[in-house]
Amino acid sequence: MTTRPTLTLVHGDITEQHCDVLVNAANSSLLGGGGVDGAIHRRGGPEILAACRDLRASHYGKGLPTGQAVATTAGRLPAQYVVHTVGPVWSRTEDRSALLASCYRESLRVASELEARTVAFPAISTGIYGWPLDDGARIALRTVREAALAPLTEVRFVLFDQEAYARFHEVLKA
Ligand code: ADP
Repeated sequence: MTTRPTLTLVHGDITEQHCDVLVNAANSSLLGGGGVDGAIHRRGGPEILAACRDLRASHYGKGLPTGQAVATTAGRLPAQYVVHTVGPVWSRTEDRSALLASCYRESLRVASELEARTVAFPAISTGIYGWPLDDGARIALRTVREAALAPLTEVRFVLFDQEAYARFHEVLKA
């Protein structure tokens, strides 16, 4: 029997979440950026950036491809690991939803390899990368529900603003 984790929604700041894995909506450089990425590096301290630089040098000279995920230390954050994933930039002309789903799936796969029980996600690609919130919420919730997740017990979506929280809530209830 496959055990499904509990899905929870929180309105708040992901850098304050106590959990095993905290997912970062990174960019492919892995060297920091704005939005949630900036907040994670600011609050987590220089250890995370140092680990990202090492990963760039050892494995991702051309950057982390869109849809993939990789783990580092969580530095000073109240988590064990940060899993960095690169969301797709939203496009009017091209359907990139498989790449967005891949971010959630790959992050969960990495978390599961790390034997994480609790994972917190932001709403990947819905900020600077422009993905419409409704669709971003549908892809996030559907993908997480479908993924085979042992030993995860909780997947938490941490929505930074009230609108994102409301949209995720509507999709979860539907
Ligand atoms: P992307 O480039 O993938 O769009 P952003 O960081 O710009 O990444 O935005 C992704 C989502 O994260 C947006 O919904 C944004 O409001 C949200 N966000 C920004 N800061 C935080 C934070 N500290 N905690 C949780 N979510 C955040």
